[in-house]
Amino acid sequence: MKHESKKKEGESAVMENMISLAKRRGFIFQGSEIYGGLAGTWDYGPLGVALKNNVKNLWWKRFVADREDMYGMDAAILMNQNAWKASGHVAGFSDPLVECEKCKRRFRADQLDAEAREKRKCPECGGKLGAEKQFNMMFKTHVGASEDAAAVSYLRPETAQGMFVNFKNIIDAFHPKLPFGMAQIGKAFRNEIAPRDFIFRTREFEQMEIEYFVDPKDWKDTFEHFIREVRAFTADVGLPKEKVHEYEVPGDSLAHYSKRTVDFEFDYPFGKKELYGLAYRTDFDLKAHSATSGVDLSYYDEEAKARFVPHVIEPSFGVDRTVLAVLSEAYREDELGGEKRVYLKLAPSVAPIKAAVFPLLKNKDALTAKAREIYQVLRKEFAKGSGGVEYDEVGSIGKRYRRQDEIGTPYCVTIDFDTIEKDGSPVTVRDRDTGTQEAIPLKDLVSFLSQKLNR
Ligand code: ATP
Repeated sequence: MKHESKKKEGESAVMENMISLAKRRGFIFQGSEIYGGLAGTWDYGPLGVALKNNVKNLWWKRFVADREDMYGMDAAILMNQNAWKASGHVAGFSDPLVECEKCKRRFRADQLDAEAREKRKCPECGGKLGAEKQFNMMFKTHVGASEDAAAVSYLRPETAQGMFVNFKNIIDAFHPKLPFGMAQIGKAFRNEIAPRDFIFRTREFEQMEIEYFVDPKDWKDTFEHFIREVRAFTADVGLPKEKVHEYEVPGDSLAHYSKRTVDFEFDYPFGKKELYGLAYRTDFDLKAHSATSGVDLSYYDEEAKARFVPHVIEPSFGVDRTVLAVLSEAYREDELGGEKRVYLKLAPSVAPIKAAVFPLLKNKDALTAKAREIYQVLRKEFAKGSGGVEYDEVGSIGKRYRRQDEIGTPYCVTIDFDTIEKDGSPVTVRDRDTGTQEAIPLKDLVSFLSQKLNR
C-alpha cells in the first residue's frame, strides 16, 4: 500500500499516518491548502463532517434531549464588546509570549522547555529570547462601516458567554426552577501563539458547553454529577476508560473565575493532554454581567422566598479534540489474511459510514439490481442524519473491504448469486475488526445490523 512506504516508527508515526489517512480519505484537510494553508485552521471533508456530527449528536442527546432540565441555545458569535469586558477576556484572556531577537519566531513562554526558559535561548536558532509579554488571544474585528473604538467586537473565544447574556431570557420565557442548565454547540476562535498537533490546538474550533445554574449550597453534588456525566460521554464516543484521566487543577493555577476545576485528559499519541474541562465558576459571570449591563440577573426562589444569584458549574468540551482522540484511538495497523492493512476501529456510534453494500461482481444486472435494492433499504434504516451507507462495485471484493476498513465502516454486506437464487436468500456480512464473514438471511439483515450497531 502506498502510504506504508512513508511509515515512521513510534508515536509521531501514528500521528503522521493518521493525518495522511484523514486527508486521503476525505476526513480532514489543511485549511486553504491550495494557497499554502493558514496556520491553525483545518477543513472537514464529508467523512469528517459525519464523524463530527455523530460526536455532536451524541453530546446533544446525553446532555440536552434526554434531560428535562437543559435549555438548548445557539447564540451569535459576535457579541457586544462590553460582554467581553465584563467576562474579563479583554483585560486578561492572554498567553505569555516571547520573541526571538534573532529569527523573530514567537513562542508561548509556558510551553518552552526548562533550558530554553532559563537560558532565554531560542529553541529554533539558539538566538536570544526577548522579554515575556502578554498576548491577548481574541480575534478583534469591527462591526459595521466604522472602524472606531465603539465598533470593536471579537470573534468569541468560548461559547459560554453567549449563554450568560441570555440567562434572563430563559428565566422570562420558561420560568425554570433551579437547578437548570443552558447548553450550546458552536465555533470559538483563539489566536493561539503556537497552534499544533493537528486539530488539537487550532485557531478556529468548536465547543460544546453547558452552564448549569445551582443554588450555591448544591454545587458540590452537581460537580460530582457532571464528573460522572463527562466520563459517561467519553464512553459514548468509544474512548477507553483507562486513557481518560482526571486532573485536579491546584488552587494557585485556577482561572480567575473558578473555585474548582477538573481537567479531563486523554492519552493522545503526543502525550497526556487536556480533552475537556469542568469548572465551578461560582456567581462570577452572572454578577459581572449584571454589574456591567445594569440588568438584574438574579433568581427568585419561590419556596424559600429568597432572591439570589445562582452559582454555575460548567462542563466544557472541545469537538475537535474529541474527534482527534477518537481518530487516534481508532487508528490501527495489523495483518489480516496474510496482508497488512490499516483500519479505523471506530465505535459504531461515531463511524461515519455504518455499513457498505457490494454486489460480488459488477456488470451482472441481476446482482447489481439486488445489491442496489438492499442498499436503498439500509440507507433508509441507517443513513439518517449523521451516518451513511455506501454502495461500492469497483475492484475486487478484497480491495472494497480494505477501503471500508480504512474509514472505519463496521460492516460490509456482500450480495452474490445465492442471495438471488437460494431459499432464505443469504447475504454475507463481514465484520471489520475480525474479518469474519457470516451468512445472514436477507429478511433478518436489518435487525441483525441494528443489533450490531447498537441502535
Ligand atoms: P488549553 O490549556 O489546552 O489551551 P484551555 O484550558 O484554555 O485549553 P478551555 O478554555 O477550558 O481550554 O476550553 C474548553 C475546551 O475547549 C478545552 O477543554 C478544549 O477541548 C477546547 N479547546 C480550547 N482551546 C482549543 C484550541 N485552541 N483548539 C481546539 N480546542 C480547544
